[in-house]
Amino acid sequence: MLIKDISFNKVKNMTHNIAILPGDGIGPEIIAEAVKVIEFLRQHAGFDATMTTAPVGGAGYDAAGKPLPDDTLSLVKACDAILLGAVGGPQYEALPREMRPERGLLGLRSELALFSNLRPAILYPQLADASSLKPEIVAGLDIMIVRELTGGIYFGQPREITEKDGERYAYNTAGYKESEIERIGRSAFDIAMKRDKRVCSVDKANVLEVSELWREVMENVAKDYPEVELSHMYVDNAAMQLVKWPKQFDVMVTSNLFGDVLSDCAAMLTGSIGMLPSASLDANGKGMYEPIHGSAPDIAGMGVANPLATILSVAMMLRYSLNEEALAQRIEAAVGKVLDQGLRTADIMSDGCTEVNTMAMGDAVVAAL
Ligand code: NAD
Repeated sequence: MLIKDISFNKVKNMTHNIAILPGDGIGPEIIAEAVKVIEFLRQHAGFDATMTTAPVGGAGYDAAGKPLPDDTLSLVKACDAILLGAVGGPQYEALPREMRPERGLLGLRSELALFSNLRPAILYPQLADASSLKPEIVAGLDIMIVRELTGGIYFGQPREITEKDGERYAYNTAGYKESEIERIGRSAFDIAMKRDKRVCSVDKANVLEVSELWREVMENVAKDYPEVELSHMYVDNAAMQLVKWPKQFDVMVTSNLFGDVLSDCAAMLTGSIGMLPSASLDANGKGMYEPIHGSAPDIAGMGVANPLATILSVAMMLRYSLNEEALAQRIEAAVGKVLDQGLRTADIMSDGCTEVNTMAMGDAVVAAL
């Protein structure tokens, strides 16, 4: 009986349970292509996984009257990783705030305590012309911004608009507990261990006490990762360096506010929103993976959306939550191969290439696998 139990657990632990949340707009179209990739790995690469689909966002509201339906919440709590398309659309904009699609996304983040936001800025050399920077500055760019997602000035109390000295006065509170800094630090160092083993911590320690503590805790965390090189940079300089010579960075770790600004800046270095994946992780490495773009209602239903950001989100999921590094690299290589073949969706189309639709792009990645 005992042996049977153990073997059952072993098999159970090997099966990865993935929740698939297509969402709204182009969400279902791009998710369908990512599912094809997972299905291929299941059938041909020994990837042991189950996939369960559930509605969220506007689709959640349509199906169950709220953006994060109870069944969807139960599913994401029980699964090992979540793949999300995108949420939102003009038809939901008149709904009360708590019923809007974005609430579904915020609900997922808070219910699952996803405090570590990973935003890679990767520019495939084949797409270097898409950037507003010179190709030699950005071609082959591969940096990872690790942003603290559940603390800092966006959540700090007290906060208010009040009166002071006879005029209106507003303030917010930027605060971090040591434990909050430590866990985002560990998240960044763990990621650096899977990359080039360099962490640049971004702060404003010359002015802010909260940054002083941030820097001190990062130094302490670094002691547990002797192989990783830690450097510090003030946020104003980091913004300049990102535009001047972004390839100097490997992993950047920073607070919620600084990360919000720097990750968008880094994403735009690549010039191609349809190519960038992201992840939000909890303390155990469970994560939600999604393209950085939204539901693109302007092109929804036309079959022209670029599915590569979502397919690359699957690669991140394999790397950071499911411990399947070889398969992650295989997907990334397949995407590179498809770009080498000159295949492009409309958003990344350039002279001399072949324009393909969403499905054809997904099929090409599967063929390249
Ligand atoms: P968006 O990212 O949806 O679209 C911006 C532009 O990029 C559009 O022109 C769109 O056609 C294009 N685009 C985006 N993804 C593309 C892809 N994969 N392939 C080709 N082109 C692509 O941003 P928006 O227009 O500001 O927002 C639209 C909706 O998405 C809103 O309801 C917004 O709230 C929501 N949104 C959701 C998320 C999310 O789910 N995480 C993020 C951002 C915005």
